[in-house]
Amino acid sequence: MTKELQIYNTLTRKKEVFEPINAPLVGMYVCGPTVYSDVHLGNCRTFISFDLIYRYLSHLGYNVRYVRNITDAGHLEGDRDEGDDKFAKKAKLEQLEPMEIVQKYTLGFHDVMRIFNTLSPSIEPTATGHISEQIEMIKEIISNGYAYEKEGTVYFDVEKYSKEYNYGQLTNRKLEDLLEGTRVLGGQDEKKGRLDFALWIKAKAETLMQWPSPWGWGFPGWHIECSAMSTKYLGETFDIHGGGMDLQATHHSNEIAQSQACNHTVPVKYWMHTNMLTVNGVRMSKSAGNGFLPGELFTGNHPLLERGYSPMVVRFFMAQSHYRSTLDFSNEALQASEKGFQKLMKAGETLNKLITNAESTVNIKELKEKCYTAMNDDFNSPILIAHLFDAVRIINLINDGSEKINQSDLDELKSIYNTFVFDVLGFKKEDSESTSNDLTGELIDMVLNLRLDAKKNKDFATSDKIRDALTEKGVKIKDTKDGFDWEL
Ligand code: AMP
Ligand code: ZN
Repeated sequence: MTKELQIYNTLTRKKEVFEPINAPLVGMYVCGPTVYSDVHLGNCRTFISFDLIYRYLSHLGYNVRYVRNITDAGHLEGDRDEGDDKFAKKAKLEQLEPMEIVQKYTLGFHDVMRIFNTLSPSIEPTATGHISEQIEMIKEIISNGYAYEKEGTVYFDVEKYSKEYNYGQLTNRKLEDLLEGTRVLGGQDEKKGRLDFALWIKAKAETLMQWPSPWGWGFPGWHIECSAMSTKYLGETFDIHGGGMDLQATHHSNEIAQSQACNHTVPVKYWMHTNMLTVNGVRMSKSAGNGFLPGELFTGNHPLLERGYSPMVVRFFMAQSHYRSTLDFSNEALQASEKGFQKLMKAGETLNKLITNAESTVNIKELKEKCYTAMNDDFNSPILIAHLFDAVRIINLINDGSEKINQSDLDELKSIYNTFVFDVLGFKKEDSESTSNDLTGELIDMVLNLRLDAKKNKDFATSDKIRDALTEKGVKIKDTKDGFDWEL
């Protein structure tokens, strides 16, 4: 029996049955990119993971409103409350307007998301488009007594909030431990408490992006945009909030605090966090300088890459690890993914040519159950892929006559294959270059099937002749118990 969908909730640190607040409606908010530079492959991992989650929830029949913001203001260097704005710094460097930076990298981000075949979110709100909502929320937090103004900057009062709520709930840490881990305030610091963070930041004369507010000219802090925009589009309490694990301790803990201090409700039912893409065990990040750009991966133009890989091969590489596990980049893993992806695509074509029988010798119902069980277990895509490889094996056995399938089972098998490979995992067939690769592959398959027939007829002279001719052309042939395998 397929179990109902279970989601690992970071807030409770366990898997829970997914019960939407207002089924069949589901509200999902994911922290989007800070558009001051190109997205790297690590960022893509998080967005591709949530694309898979969005696709599966939609497949289950939920009507998902997926909100993924664009951070185009307020994100300071080092994710702290002081220092330069990331956009202003880049604007100076590239001699552009901050909004030119935002436009350039937003378009680049959309291009990358399209290349990876991710679905567009339902709403993609920007921080600069929601300044008044953020100001209103800050006003409410002040009037509820959880924030204070100092010289045109507004801070959230973490200690005051902690008297009624649990500030460390998302990371399961006590306030005292969090305080211990934070640096001591300098004499000139305006904050009352060490953990206090800015909701609104006073602009300097030279600040490029600033807006009027009840506290003077300034700009919003990074965290308030997500609280304001998620409340606006999904309500005071919504179903799923996601982002990378690196956002959990500060950005998401602050989001919970702001929303609770404003609305007096728990903002999110299920918190979901994706684990990091690493390079030699080190988290891929802009600051560590170990980030590949997707374009470098496609062309192979990077010192760590032996060659290029297609977007769907990269997507396959990502889907082969669970979203809560770290994923370490390697050439070997990508090469294995390439083979895996091609095998899956090839099986799809074979599937379309299968011939039916009066009776079936294969268990398609069991295969279907297994696929749903894998995805219902906290979106376990690597297990799903393992089951799809069982499907590939079944398809090849039917194709070579070792197994039989009747019409209704074949219809079911096609439906499972198309649902999980294309709709849920989000793969697509690749362009003309791979079409010619596909044709080459099909021709090799055809010749090797002729060789198999020759062997069955004990015509070893022909079978050896075919093998030698293909070997000469660089095709490595392996005889297997199901027939054959080959690679170029
Ligand atoms: P940023 O543009 O830095 O605000 O990040 C956008 C998203 O990418 C956030 O959800 C981050 O948590 C996520 N992210 C950043 N680095 C990585 C990484 N190495 N692996 C996976 N996700 C990441
Ligand atoms: Zn956010």
